Amino acid sequence: MAAESEEPIIGSYVVGNFPAQYGYDQPVDLMNGQAASNANASNGRLTVGGGVTSQVDAASAGVGAAMPPIGSASTASIAGAATAGTTAMPQTPPEEKPRILVMGLRRSGKSSIQKVVFHKMSPNETLFLESTCKIQKDEVSDCSFIQFSVWDVPGHIDYLTDIFDTSDTFAGTGAIVFVIDAQDDYMEAIDRLKVLVSGAYNVNPRIKFEVFIHKVDGLTDEQKIEVQCDITQRANDLLIDIGNGNEVINIHYHLTTIYDHSIFEAFSKVVQKLIPHMGAFESLLNIFCNNSGLEKAFLFDVATKIYIATDPSPVDMQVYELCCDMIDLVVDVTTIYSEGQESDELGFSEDTCSSIRLDNSTVLLLRGVDRHLALVCVLREESMDRQGIIEYNFQRVRQGLQRVLTLKQSLSSSIAAASDSQVPGALKSVEASLSNGAA
Ligand code: GDP
Repeated sequence: MAAESEEPIIGSYVVGNFPAQYGYDQPVDLMNGQAASNANASNGRLTVGGGVTSQVDAASAGVGAAMPPIGSASTASIAGAATAGTTAMPQTPPEEKPRILVMGLRRSGKSSIQKVVFHKMSPNETLFLESTCKIQKDEVSDCSFIQFSVWDVPGHIDYLTDIFDTSDTFAGTGAIVFVIDAQDDYMEAIDRLKVLVSGAYNVNPRIKFEVFIHKVDGLTDEQKIEVQCDITQRANDLLIDIGNGNEVINIHYHLTTIYDHSIFEAFSKVVQKLIPHMGAFESLLNIFCNNSGLEKAFLFDVATKIYIATDPSPVDMQVYELCCDMIDLVVDVTTIYSEGQESDELGFSEDTCSSIRLDNSTVLLLRGVDRHLALVCVLREESMDRQGIIEYNFQRVRQGLQRVLTLKQSLSSSIAAASDSQVPGALKSVEASLSNGAA
């Protein structure tokens, strides 16, 4: 497959050469592409928090040393595949990336969401954003696992006219996030949603439709429920006739605001739906928690603070926020104090680790998986008695994740489908190797 510098195409127009009347005048952000090729640049090593700080050497994590190596059977093929991929690492073909389209009426908050989630803009700064009047394509490709693009499509563009080649646009789309301003009159937005859903569904029935009922920061709890019920009801009434009678189009609704973590949580849920084998990841983290005495474990994409997997226990918003704060803290310190950081590097690596003991007898543990991903775990102070087991299990989980990630990144699209079937198997073998300290 030729790795030509193909420009992404929106409908029948090439991004970068968008017709002047639609105001597309910005080149696609290539920064991330450079960052992606800059592997191994990070060597940040950090411990934070005087309370409980530990960095256990993998070799000296004696607990469970007699446990079997990870994935004795299926790992062999994975390791082989990964090695094969190192010589000529193929670029992920564009069509392989799940694509998220962010759509909605003008001033609904699309650009703000994108800036806050993907570009670390503070919510207050979004007050000064110019309203979107052009199509913006934002490749979030510096995250090793999450490779998706966010297209900010202005409200005044009619999705189903010839501006969009609908089959082209929707065929490659994994999820459409439709943003509705909950503080405004939303009738027009619901009408647009209907047009959009029917157009997209006809082209690609597998698209996930996610509605962000946005700007809920201005609403009381009762108003939030009221608005959500009203929008859901109205939208479902309109959509009932789209699904060819017997098919039901599932739309998921999320209450969001950029002023708290709800927007990150909502994006996490959307992204998780686009990741194959989520169940295998969840199951691995579940066993990791059970065997190690953890209350909760998140696998975070560090750059966006989106969690791409967690164990199946319910997500407590406050716990999630705490974990996000911990990531911010570690990123801030590493970016400021780690040596030799490229400006777009976060200073994360598999050596990054941090432990913070809170005043409510809870401990937060952060362990880097690679330069993009981190495991953040929450546990009771008492569970730190089993720190050796936690560290041992963590090493196992990390190795398993790294292998799966390498596998996914290094195989070409033609064999990606086959490799996908290896992923749950590989994670299952990691599960089997986790220690619960009983041996
Ligand atoms: P776009 O035209 O859909 O891209 O809308 P913008 O992102 O430009 O946002 C329009 C306005 O809504 C800006 O002034 C933002 O500060 C504001 N905004 C965006 N998100 C929120 C939110 O969650 N809560 C509130 N109160 N305002 C928001």
